Amino acid sequence: MHVSYLESVITKAEGRCRDRGSRLTPLRRQVLRALVEVSEPISAYGLLEICNAEREEAMPAMSMYRILDFLVDQQLAHRLVSSKKYIACSHIDCCPKHFQRVHFLICDQCARVKEVEMSEAMMDSLNHVAGAEGFKLSSRQLEFSGVCGECR
Ligand SMILES: [Zn+2]
Ligand SMILES: [Zn+2]
Repeated sequence: MHVSYLESVITKAEGRCRDRGSRLTPLRRQVLRALVEVSEPISAYGLLEICNAEREEAMPAMSMYRILDFLVDQQLAHRLVSSKKYIACSHIDCCPKHFQRVHFLICDQCARVKEVEMSEAMMDSLNHVAGAEGFKLSSRQLEFSGVCGECR
């Protein structure tokens, strides 16, 4: 991980928060930084351990969950439903605008996660199938496991 990439991500994340009328506080920044550095899905407790190792005063788990909720809300991080783990958004640095709905390709071998966007037609069709069963989707996030290009 290049320090410059990390700095650039943090600066962009601060800008995004400012644009949305929120703020990347020092605590939030620390969590996001750790999440970017880990660069693979990690649990809230795993992240808490990393962050607390750097802190004089340990942060309680509750604060970590609150901060992660904030980061997910701001689309700076994503929560994988299948593993209950978190990853930093891979588009903080490059895209001014985030996809409306993001889906994930998760590599079984290296745990790398790729964010992808699906067509509206495909999502409609999925909703239709669920609706026909009287099923109301609580998550419209798709997660696929497989083997990534690099591992193949
Ligand atoms: Zn993202
Ligand atoms: Zn892989």
